[in-house]
Amino acid sequence: MYAFEYKRPASVADAKAALGGDARYLAGGQSLIQAMKLRLSSSATLVDLSGIKDLQTIRMDGANLVIGAMVTHAAVGASADVKRACPALAELAAGIGDPMVRNMGTIGGSIANADPAACYPAGLVGLGATVHTNQRTIPADSFFTGLYETALQPGELITAVSFPPVQKAAYVKYKQPASRFALVGVFVSQSAGGVRVAVTGAKGSVFRATAIEAALSKSFTPEAAKAVKMPATDINSDMHGTAEYRAAMISVMASRAVAAALAR
Ligand SMILES: Cc1cc2nc3c(=O)[nH]c(=O)nc-3n(C[C@H](O)[C@H](O)[C@H](O)COP(=O)(O)OP(=O)(O)OC[C@H]3O[C@@H](n4cnc5c(N)ncnc54)[C@H](O)[C@@H]3O)c2cc1C
Repeated sequence: MYAFEYKRPASVADAKAALGGDARYLAGGQSLIQAMKLRLSSSATLVDLSGIKDLQTIRMDGANLVIGAMVTHAAVGASADVKRACPALAELAAGIGDPMVRNMGTIGGSIANADPAACYPAGLVGLGATVHTNQRTIPADSFFTGLYETALQPGELITAVSFPPVQKAAYVKYKQPASRFALVGVFVSQSAGGVRVAVTGAKGSVFRATAIEAALSKSFTPEAAKAVKMPATDINSDMHGTAEYRAAMISVMASRAVAAALAR
């Protein structure tokens, strides 16, 4: 790891001010520190966000669930508010990685990192969430722009994510057994806004499976999801699974997610 300067501001304004030059925000360090240790990433300064109390709350804003950027996966998984408003989101968080990753990793760090196999991107897009930053709000549908890429501008800091009310939802992932990242993960939801089906792990970035959404809008059943044959075009292919295999798994995971959502 290359040497770096360390800063720990106590407010969002101070964090932004501390970021000048070759600096990056540090959340749980579960992706960033690993990359720095391997010398895949280096920064002259790390601005640790863990001292900013405003980023660490979970609250209801009317009917919307609002989760601060520095809330850990473990805290989301254990939160009574999250379990009441959206049990599927609590389960998604509780299924990330291992206890160390869940106790250190944060929702803000996860979505800023935009790993193509991460779970939260599916949760945000699958629920039609909104990302709040120190500059603006960004709909989840336009936040994830590519492989490890987001709509964030340099220095822009995620402060929270808000989730609208949902009637039925579930997330099911087929795990990569070593890391527990999603080989294919599917988040399904039914709400006043309609049906959403978001897929992670299968392409360079999270995407909506519109053919499955159309089928589920007519009939919200596991059979309807499973009957959709997803094309293998542009689907990831590697030593863990071919494009054809992953494409088939999208419909299977979607049907299991619908079954889980209906069973609540
Ligand atoms: C062994 C292992 C298994 C894992 N398994 C899973 C899994 O099953 N599913 C899953 O989804 N994830 C998994 N992860 C990733 C985990 O969820 C991490 O939480 C995530 O990668 C990054 O979160 P972090 O809070 O540690 O962010 P960091 O590593 O601290 O930061 C990541 C990036 O986000 C930026 N950043 C952080 N916070 C903000 C902010 N508020 N605003 C703007 N930019 C910010 C940083 O500058 C950095 O570029 C795993 C990780 C490991 C090490």
